[in-house]
Amino acid sequence: MLAVDAVPAAVGGARVRRALPTRRLRTVGAWCFLDHLGPDDVTAGAGPAVGPHPHTGLQTVTWLVAGELVHRDGLGTEQPIRPGQLNVMGAGRGIAHSEDLPTARPRWLHGTQLWVAQPPATRTGAPSFTHLPELPVVDAGGWEVRVLVGEHGGVRSPAPVATPLVGLELTAAAAATTEVPLDPAMEHAALVLEGRVALDGVPLGADRLVADGPGRHSWALASDGPARVLLLGGTPWEGPLVMWWNLVGASHEEVAAAREDWVRGERFAPVVGSPSPPIEAPPLPGGRLVSRLAAPWRAVPAAG
Ligand code: MN
Repeated sequence: MLAVDAVPAAVGGARVRRALPTRRLRTVGAWCFLDHLGPDDVTAGAGPAVGPHPHTGLQTVTWLVAGELVHRDGLGTEQPIRPGQLNVMGAGRGIAHSEDLPTARPRWLHGTQLWVAQPPATRTGAPSFTHLPELPVVDAGGWEVRVLVGEHGGVRSPAPVATPLVGLELTAAAAATTEVPLDPAMEHAALVLEGRVALDGVPLGADRLVADGPGRHSWALASDGPARVLLLGGTPWEGPLVMWWNLVGASHEEVAAAREDWVRGERFAPVVGSPSPPIEAPPLPGGRLVSRLAAPWRAVPAAG
């Protein structure tokens, strides 16, 4: 089992801990990005205020534990999201969106944002947005399992996915132990959002991501009190995955072209109503952007 600590980062004036991608683990199935935000007191201060910015080749998945955010996008969507709800935006060939605090600010903000890499079938397709006001729940002996994405315990989330993928939030109101069934075809990762949890006997504090390659049939999950854990899984990503800034593509050229279109005001329909200014693209790094799919259980690809 691999354990990696999430890395501090800043997004739109808010401090986050980035659990994916990290140097040793870049993807879990098609999950290719995971930021853990808060819990922060947002009564005062600027953030988070993430003005209009572009995405390509990925789905954004937003899940809150506390507070509220308002999503706006180039399809004309304006959608508040609160705990227990899921926002899924499919970028396809390109969409811009913004995420801001609502006018009536909550006191606390706590949540996650994830990205799912899109396969060739949807990667260059039309953008889309889905808001799910509630999600199915499975009881697991003292743990409540919310099925954000995919299928678990015989229930399926209505969230649109294009590759074999699972995303669960497990919450315990008090000390509890359970055996979480896993699909052995998938690789899996878990991130503690609240409380103290042991996974297969390994004690975990907040913001430590643990992961396993395919072949596992279950994980033993135990908390010593109230706890909240995010569990992700998916079949190992095949094919190229070039990630830079907010853009995902199959090649350097795809990502560079998307950046160029954002800079020129092309491709991405404007976002209306965000109180935050649009975000400028940083300069491309020197050299070619390359596909990297690091995980300890993955074979190192041949050079060339
Ligand atoms: Mn975004």
